[in-house]
Amino acid sequence: MKKPFKISGQRIDLGETKTIYLDLARTFDRSQISLPVHVIRGVKEGPTLFVSAAIHGDEINGVEIIKRLIKRIKPKSLQGTLIAVPVVNVFGFNMAIRYLPDRRDLNRSFPGSPSGSLAGRIANIFMKEVVNKSTHGIDLHTGAVHRYNQPQIRACLDDIETKHLAESFGVPVILNSDLRDGSLREAARRKKIPMLLFEGGEALRFNESVIRVGWRGILSVMNVIGMVNKKRKSEVKSYIARESMWIRSPQSGLMRCFKSIGAHVREGDSLGVISGPLGENSVYFEAPFDGIIIGINLLPLISQGDATIHIAGFKNTKNVKKEVDIFDSELLD
Ligand SMILES: [Zn+2]
Repeated sequence: MKKPFKISGQRIDLGETKTIYLDLARTFDRSQISLPVHVIRGVKEGPTLFVSAAIHGDEINGVEIIKRLIKRIKPKSLQGTLIAVPVVNVFGFNMAIRYLPDRRDLNRSFPGSPSGSLAGRIANIFMKEVVNKSTHGIDLHTGAVHRYNQPQIRACLDDIETKHLAESFGVPVILNSDLRDGSLREAARRKKIPMLLFEGGEALRFNESVIRVGWRGILSVMNVIGMVNKKRKSEVKSYIARESMWIRSPQSGLMRCFKSIGAHVREGDSLGVISGPLGENSVYFEAPFDGIIIGINLLPLISQGDATIHIAGFKNTKNVKKEVDIFDSELLD
């Protein structure tokens, strides 16, 4: 007999949908803070996919992506189990900040420990009750405050299965990104769970096009791993960037960018200018290589060394640009 599927000791049977509240900690006034975990079990066995958002508490596009995703998943047409965790960093989310109240980054605190800091304890509970029960994972992020990211997948592409998942998400841009110490992705990798990180839009915003890409992409992955049967498959071609780089501001001042997100830039193209409030001391900055703009700093007030524009380089940038344009126009359907 197969062991029953349980989260935090609560059993969820085939065909059942349940929200389980994991106790995390208490606040100063002794109010209980819990982590809501929404589980949808299909009528048939299959893979177990976790989808998480707001590990950085102010990255809320993913919360909306999960909200729309779970509306579309019914146990009778699902094989396997979807574990949806829309807000992992409950503390940061309630304060509309990226970090935990003690300024720790939850995504540098994995796998955590039951006796560690608040971040370490949340990471530990999340690993134990969610990640360790999953066969696949998708974690949803956005750019930081005032930074907008072109929808993109970041994953460790050395792993064939992860690469396959990344390509099935249906975004034109994929970054082969290294694992960072203490990240959820690194902890999942150690457990041999293939995992994607989706990046799109800006912190503290609902970016409609990004939200659509997000839930459609997750459905597309679920289709490929045999959890749902979607008639319309994603036809977006994905390209893996061979390099990517944030161009740093050469000086402090007011920044005006000449290029927008998704633009194709060529080596030496002028990307923008930074000057004083009277237009004095203008310094232009350029693209160091041919590529696509996949991230942009929207805040014109800039200090020397701040990130301005994020460029990804590809083998054939023209093809990527074509795909980005088709992709952007189809999003409006
Ligand atoms: Zn993030």
